[in-house]
Amino acid sequence: MIIVKEKPLDEILGFLLPYESILIVGCDGCTQPPRGLREAMTYAMLIEMRAKIKGKTNLKCRATTVSMQCDNHICSTTLTPQLEGIDAILSLACGVGVQTLVEVFPEIPVYPGQNTVFVGSQEREGGTMHEKCKACGECLLGETGGICPITNCPKGILNGPCGGCVDGKCEVPFEIRDESGKVVKTIVKDCAWYLMYQRLKKLNRLDLFRKYRPPRNRAISSSPRLLEVV
Ligand code: SF4
Ligand code: SF4
Repeated sequence: MIIVKEKPLDEILGFLLPYESILIVGCDGCTQPPRGLREAMTYAMLIEMRAKIKGKTNLKCRATTVSMQCDNHICSTTLTPQLEGIDAILSLACGVGVQTLVEVFPEIPVYPGQNTVFVGSQEREGGTMHEKCKACGECLLGETGGICPITNCPKGILNGPCGGCVDGKCEVPFEIRDESGKVVKTIVKDCAWYLMYQRLKKLNRLDLFRKYRPPRNRAISSSPRLLEVV
């Protein structure tokens, strides 16, 4: 799932104040936390209230959602009939959804309501999100016991572990930061390559652990990339 985090309401309002009629578009796809119709309706109410507090009484919001905001055909067929009289769109999807709406409706201003954080998975208890994939274009999971060295090893080492693995722990502290970038928590994490070793040993595939991997082909993961679906 794609992890998103709400933008501050005042930042959103900064985008929307020049307009009067806004369509808030949720996405029923993979954003986490969910950003579907219910959330779009909540945003509509909050934005109208906040605009009134700021003296803008004529700002009206309508809420809707699409099943996948990253699909231009779905966006076009679902949203085109709803755009009559709309001055601007606020997307609650990830950055891909926002860019899809920009391409499908080039004549309408589209603004992001979320900050896209990373591609990850959710730990139910505690609500922690873990980054799992950087979409590197050359997936190594088949050789690494299903543990991604690109996202789980801070150095992105392909032939590990480095010399800094002590008692199975990584030498690079894992830092959780607040909005301003200040470190609020530091965690000592397991070395990704240590975890790989344990896993591949269990699978009786230590041959994969010993296998030499040449430097990655950065050309396939450098931006911007284009993917042709056949
Ligand atoms: S190796 Fe890691 S970053 Fe690359 S595609 Fe696989 S899971 Fe994603
Ligand atoms: S200790 Fe392990 S996880 Fe940490 S940087 Fe070295 S190889 Fe990567």
